[in-house]
Amino acid sequence: MAGAAALAVSSSAFSLSSCGNSKKDCCKGNECCTRSLNISFQEGLTPGETLKEKLDFMESLGVTGFEPGGRGLADRVDEIKNALEGRPIKVSAICAGFQGFILAEDPAVKKLFDTSMREIIVAAGKLGATGVIMVPAFNGQEPCKPHTQATRDYLCEQLHDLGEFAVENGTTVILEPLNRGECFYLRLVADAAAIARDSDSKGVKCMGDFWHMKEETSDYGAFWSAGTEYLQHVHIASRGRRKTPGEDGELDNYVDGFRALKQMGYDKYVSFECGMLGDPKEVLTAAVALLRKQWEEA
Ligand code: MG
Repeated sequence: MAGAAALAVSSSAFSLSSCGNSKKDCCKGNECCTRSLNISFQEGLTPGETLKEKLDFMESLGVTGFEPGGRGLADRVDEIKNALEGRPIKVSAICAGFQGFILAEDPAVKKLFDTSMREIIVAAGKLGATGVIMVPAFNGQEPCKPHTQATRDYLCEQLHDLGEFAVENGTTVILEPLNRGECFYLRLVADAAAIARDSDSKGVKCMGDFWHMKEETSDYGAFWSAGTEYLQHVHIASRGRRKTPGEDGELDNYVDGFRALKQMGYDKYVSFECGMLGDPKEVLTAAVALLRKQWEEA
């Protein structure tokens, strides 16, 4: 029985590899294993006229996650479910798409957030998404509650309720730290993880975006500060101009972050959120190969 159980774990979350390479192997009990890299593409950047064409392209590259936007998602549940049927691709996270924002002082704007966010959470649950990505407040969103201790407490209370609603619907809400130019309120993975912890709900998680992680002093430390308890998603782009990984040459090194993901046994997705300079099919194909190579090196 133990062998069968171990095999079941191995086939779902790990790919077996030979023992003895301590750099690449992680050990769970007596298992020697290597975490696989689960790559996801956002819908908007994937080449193709139709959803079918986009998914065909993703499948040809072995991409296993699909990240749609949240706007209008409630009306697309059947369309997306049908398109994914029979494919080795699942919905990864849902990228925002709500209206208003959680720290709005104007009750009408806050209500708009509450209503639209919950509608997306329900749809995300139906699609089996890992969560719905959100930011507490972008720099330009006014009127915004001031940045005080009381505001942080309020944020955690509100997130608690939202997280519990997400759990009821089989999904989560995922706090995304951004760089200071977009959201001074939440810049570091560790801070997002701490807010998730203080929100005291299994439905509140966080993520890291390699583009915004220029704020961090260490990719490795940033991911570990969230750990598997809170890290629910990862975004990736080139590190100079936010294009596809590899289009900024030597800058596009993700090994340090990947090493943390492998060591912690991260089993969610690394999802492309980026523009592109070259031919989409060519640069995306090259980017996937680059990430797989760096994952091996990590
Ligand atoms: Mg992002």
